[in-house]
Amino acid sequence: MQELKQLWEKVLSKIESMVSIVSYELWIEPLIPIDFRDKLILSANSQTAKKQLLKNHSKELTECIESVFGNGTIYEILDPAEKEEYLQNNQPNENQALVDDNFSEEKCMFNTKYTFDNFIVGKSNQFCYAAARAVAENPGQKLNPLFIYGGVGLGKTHLLHAIGNYLKQNNPKLKIQYVTCEKFTNDYIESLGTNKEKGTVKGTAEFREKYRNLDVLMVDDIQFISKRTSTQEEFFHTFNDLYQQNKQIIISSDRPPKEIETLEDRLRSRFSSGLIQDIQAPDFETRVAILRKKAQLERYFIDDDVIEFIAEKVDTNIREMEGLLSKVYFFATLLGKKSASIEEAREAFKEQLDVQKEKLTPQTIIQTVCDYYGIEYNEITGKKKSKEIVEPRMIAIYLISDMIDIPLISIGRLFGGRDHTTIIHSRDKISELLKRDHKTKTIINDLKKQIGEKC
Ligand code: ADP
Ligand code: MG
Repeated sequence: MQELKQLWEKVLSKIESMVSIVSYELWIEPLIPIDFRDKLILSANSQTAKKQLLKNHSKELTECIESVFGNGTIYEILDPAEKEEYLQNNQPNENQALVDDNFSEEKCMFNTKYTFDNFIVGKSNQFCYAAARAVAENPGQKLNPLFIYGGVGLGKTHLLHAIGNYLKQNNPKLKIQYVTCEKFTNDYIESLGTNKEKGTVKGTAEFREKYRNLDVLMVDDIQFISKRTSTQEEFFHTFNDLYQQNKQIIISSDRPPKEIETLEDRLRSRFSSGLIQDIQAPDFETRVAILRKKAQLERYFIDDDVIEFIAEKVDTNIREMEGLLSKVYFFATLLGKKSASIEEAREAFKEQLDVQKEKLTPQTIIQTVCDYYGIEYNEITGKKKSKEIVEPRMIAIYLISDMIDIPLISIGRLFGGRDHTTIIHSRDKISELLKRDHKTKTIINDLKKQIGEKC
């Protein structure tokens, strides 16, 4: 039997791909399931939320609730006052949900928005895309295992789901299991627990039944594999078992196998027997195309110049870029407009841009100044008093005090423990020069630009 909460999470994962991100985050995600007897009782965090849900999302809610809790399940949404009243009159049923554990898990496994069609191909990801497609078209043949690696938010999970969605559609009989590394580990540990408690081999047998009786196994974020040798041992045997039967294995990670410190060598070498393919950060054009696609999928109206603005602001993490897109859309709807202007987008991103500012460290400034003048980090922070070093040092001190909010004493520490009067002297000297010396102005401007580009 499953807990109500777990079942509700399944409803959430289904509904997430059916409504816009904004609706999901504002109205659906905050819902809390509080009881389930003859009907499912959900509590909303405000009256407005209840109204919005009933007005705009009752169709999706009904469909997803029925698919998880069973056909004909009725639900009721309570606003905070109604919830209080309900709780006073009813003792929520803790052992709710007489639903089979294996209820449509397969259906929920893949996000229907993460398809090959919705994946924009550019220079940065073309090989990964081609490899994923080849595996989807011919699982268990040439590219086995397929190991995809790349930074956060670059589309690894999207590609894994795309393979899953493709196979479900074109090869529905295949048994496919997608898990995060964490889930694999938890399942394994849980199987041992059952084993011990019951004094039988049931737990391990169930685990093996789940993972070895497959046509395709996908493990997302393998870098989280624990050092526990028993988990790696189990994974190693699962891998071998499937591999020997020509079953497809697909793995993702944020780094190549050789850089996953916790990984045992024998697993590392197993991974090398197939294709190891990296996925890179997309270039500007690809970022723009991804944002356009996303806006189209989410039915957002966003002007091209705003899309380009976002693509310029975020250049590594696509998930972050998408977050800004829905933020700007939401901002426009709050203003009662169809689409936001560049100025409004800027306003919507203020917080985000401030966070970027926080990412700026004194070390980045010092290093940028060193690179600019062609000197070493330990020279600028050291004792040397020659002109070639003193001037950059003063400039770095000025820039740190101008761009970052840190105490003068801390700046002094960064420069070999100089006291704060020396720091004040350097800062004021450059401030003075800036007022009248053109060369200093140019240098400071150049440096600020370079520092800005690094954050
Ligand atoms: P990762 O698993 O690499 O951290 P995800 O697969 O979760 O990244 O991708 C983050 C978001 O970016 C998802 O919403 C995904 O759909 C989107 N995304 C990433 N790459 C692309 C792409 N090439 N085309 C369209 N969307 C993409
Ligand atoms: Mg991922």
